[in-house]
Amino acid sequence: MTQIYELDKIAITVKSHRLLKVLLKENPKLEEIMYGSKNETEALIGMKNWILDLIKDKPDVLKYCEKGVASGISFKSLGWSDIAAIRILDYVDNAGREFIDLNLRGQLAVSNPIKLLWLGANKGTGGAKPDFFEDMIHLFRQLMGKEAKKDYTKEQLKSWMNRFPSGLDPRIVKLREENRERILNIIIDKIDDGEINDSKYKFDPDLSREGKLEIALGWWNESTFHLRFAVRSPDLLNEFLGYSLDPDSMNILYEAEKKGIPFFVNPYYLSLLHVRVPYFAVGADLAIRHYVVYSRQLIDEFGYLNAWEKEDKVEPGKPNAAGWILPSHHNVHRRYPEVAILIPDTMGRACGGLCSSCQRMYDFQNGYLNFNLNKLKPNETWSERLERLMEYFENDSQLRDILITGGDALMSSDKSLENILDSIYSMAKRKQQKNLNRPDNKKYAEIQRIRLGSRLPAYLPQRITDSLADLLKRFKEKGLEIGIKQFVIQTHFESPMEITPEVKEAVKKLINVGWIVTNQHVFTAASSRRGHNLKLREVMNDIGILPYYTFSVKGYMENYFNFAPNARAVQESIEEKVIGNLSESSIELTKKFAEDAEHIVENINSIRLAENIPFLATDRNVLNLPGVGKSLTFRVIGITRYGRRILEFEHDSTRTHSPIIEKMDKVLIIESKSISEYLNQLEEIGEKIEEYTDVYGYSIGETESRMPLYEYPEPDLTITKEFTNLEIPDTEFASIEK
Ligand code: SF4
Repeated sequence: MTQIYELDKIAITVKSHRLLKVLLKENPKLEEIMYGSKNETEALIGMKNWILDLIKDKPDVLKYCEKGVASGISFKSLGWSDIAAIRILDYVDNAGREFIDLNLRGQLAVSNPIKLLWLGANKGTGGAKPDFFEDMIHLFRQLMGKEAKKDYTKEQLKSWMNRFPSGLDPRIVKLREENRERILNIIIDKIDDGEINDSKYKFDPDLSREGKLEIALGWWNESTFHLRFAVRSPDLLNEFLGYSLDPDSMNILYEAEKKGIPFFVNPYYLSLLHVRVPYFAVGADLAIRHYVVYSRQLIDEFGYLNAWEKEDKVEPGKPNAAGWILPSHHNVHRRYPEVAILIPDTMGRACGGLCSSCQRMYDFQNGYLNFNLNKLKPNETWSERLERLMEYFENDSQLRDILITGGDALMSSDKSLENILDSIYSMAKRKQQKNLNRPDNKKYAEIQRIRLGSRLPAYLPQRITDSLADLLKRFKEKGLEIGIKQFVIQTHFESPMEITPEVKEAVKKLINVGWIVTNQHVFTAASSRRGHNLKLREVMNDIGILPYYTFSVKGYMENYFNFAPNARAVQESIEEKVIGNLSESSIELTKKFAEDAEHIVENINSIRLAENIPFLATDRNVLNLPGVGKSLTFRVIGITRYGRRILEFEHDSTRTHSPIIEKMDKVLIIESKSISEYLNQLEEIGEKIEEYTDVYGYSIGETESRMPLYEYPEPDLTITKEFTNLEIPDTEFASIEK
């Protein structure tokens, strides 16, 4: 008998007993099945018969149960209790399945909730934790119609939104000015004491304090200043924050330092954190704070991190997890046929800060991404390699979209960035010329979209200079001539408090030169609070940014702290984001956004006004699956004894995937946090959890459709169906199922 089955013998705790008692008392039929079954198998049969009896006259529910989204029925059309019935049947059908739990460094997890109930009721064993029973109590309340899904009025949603100020609120602007002054005074002291000795940032010894401050305020507008004075240690972080970090947080940060987790918080971004918390903004900066201050779990797991994106593991010449053969170890990542991610060997391998739940933490762990800014300057071999990478793109039959990222694309100097963009331009031109010699239906896709992935508009808006804007303008002018139609800055804002006057100015520069700015939000626990994402969408729209994705936090136990369950992502999209839904005619109007980027603010506003909505809900809530792509089409098919849910995902059928998709199993995810743990965490940060309880009921998700504005323009040629750079291995794709 393996260790995992030994857990069945473990006595449940007093709290678990009490919760089980509540569950059975509330559900006499369940009690009868549990006590009337001689063993777990009888309990499973009893459960299945009961539930099938409840839904026997509901053909849609039966059909959805069997075929899921392939039934053509949307789960939104099913009753709330029917969704619970489907989950219980899924629990029964998947009873006893074993999974490799990467949250527990590969230990086995088994899902058999009915058995755990039977063991608990009859023997007081099974080892199920209170969170498991909490989840089951809500499941049966949902089944029996005792807990109904709530619909919220526009007024309610707006009142949630208004809980969160934005960084453009004059009161917040004033606070940030105080923070800026505090930080600059510390830096001035350090320069005066000789603790900081810099050839560029120094003072004339005779200068008065006021004079120094005035000069330092000028430095504040330069991105190089912020990179030079970025905080790289816990002590300095605390000092810059006016010693406001509590001893527990500091201990965690010291441990992080010992473990080798990089620190890099620039003064501008630090000035967004409150030291003095005003009554109107209590908790408003949490989503930022939790992105800067590391968690216990991250520290424990750093060094053992698994790559979530299996396709990010690359061996040149061998197919990656999505079947793509790539030209180098680190420079190209690829999931979809049309898109390649380019990671240059430049300063772009750094970022303007390290986000605590960084999607590329695995690369920071292995040192490929880092903050050694001087060493990251491109060397001579980079230009040769860049040419080789361009040959790869040139000879790819399907590629039409290049996303330059890192790290952060805008960490590259203007010169390096221009060099990369020029290489892409020449490659795109060669691609076009080669097509002239190809027959009609054998033509290769031409480049239609260029994206720069950067969080610098949030971390360091000072990087968006006039000269950068000029460079982007020049590239766009040239690119348009060879058929590139979409020019996108893909950024990453987490909180409405990150939208500051500096950001507004920076985004304006990007828009003025005809690039659209889209946002990929990461749905962390703090940013998943009711109304938070609504406010972020609204204030982003105010300055011309379009929401693109709301991503569930990726990763395993290292991201436990910031993780918000996928159920909450579905709840947010159904109960909250709807306030920004667009009519068909408005969706039609958004299709022109990329072509008319210069007027995006006006164009957004005219739709908001016509529809009387606070923002345009142009983003999709999804999870980036470890495999090939994004989806929120899932069903909860299991639950561990710790109450952590097991989700079975399907791929987004609306997108073109690598043909490997046909060989892949459904993707299984074990969440790192139970719903109860999530709600407790929300309570600790001041939320009323009764506002969230429906979250337990969201055990099914469906990927929202992609807004047409994000589709590729129709190409003027017939692209070959042949795939280059692709090799589909004979073996089946590995699953976490044992
Ligand atoms: S900006 Fe992106 S790549 Fe850089 S640390 Fe943040 S999440 Fe990671």
